[in-house]
Amino acid sequence: MRDRGGAVKIAGMTKQLMTALAFAADKHRNQRRKDADASPYINHPIALANLLLNEAGVEDQRVLIAAILHDTIEDTDTTEQELVKHFGKDVADIVLEVTDDKTLPKADRKRLQIEHAAHISRRAKLVKLADKICNLRDITASPPADWSIQRKQEYFDWAKSVVDRLRGVHPGLEHLFDKTYDGRPRLVI
Ligand code: NDP
Ligand code: ZN
Repeated sequence: MRDRGGAVKIAGMTKQLMTALAFAADKHRNQRRKDADASPYINHPIALANLLLNEAGVEDQRVLIAAILHDTIEDTDTTEQELVKHFGKDVADIVLEVTDDKTLPKADRKRLQIEHAAHISRRAKLVKLADKICNLRDITASPPADWSIQRKQEYFDWAKSVVDRLRGVHPGLEHLFDKTYDGRPRLVI
């Protein structure tokens, strides 16, 4: 929409997205990804929202905002109450659906992600799909420095086990996942 001077007006959705970006950037400010260059953590939530909007055509504001915030409860001191206060209960609920219980051992958390995938909401499934696609892309392009090919393969296969249980929600995103999975690292003999 343009005002009388011809300037493009900022829509409400853009304002909310900026608020979420600023919030997530602040919460993740001292965190880095596991790649050799230790990229800023915020690159990852931004990658999810960018993938959802610009590659998969997902325009659902709650999904995009939840994608930006998806690791705040799991990986920072952010509380459910904070998310409800700033972004509403719908967004907070999506983030909670994609949040692991960090009091559990890693193996249990990985098993529970597979078990829960089919039972989360449609919006949470979209965020989960984007998260898995982005992590596979990261492992392909900028992997954790010390990961063997076998460990990368295990991650690819576990991600596929999760995604296979939530299919039927967005063919475009599922196709993007499959294309990314096709790049599963292989041992060259
Ligand atoms: P981690 O959970 O430790 O690491 C993967 C997670 O790290 C991703 O889900 C992602 O989470 C985040 N991440 C940050 N930076 C990157 C990046 N550059 N690329 C990809 N992901 C990144 O590893 P695993 O999933 O492998 O889980 C650990 C399990 O691995 C344990 O169960 C253990 O038994 C097993 N293990 C296997 C070994 C092997 O050699 N096969 C060796 C040691 C452990 P997010 O999106 O939330 O940021
Ligand atoms: Zn993530």
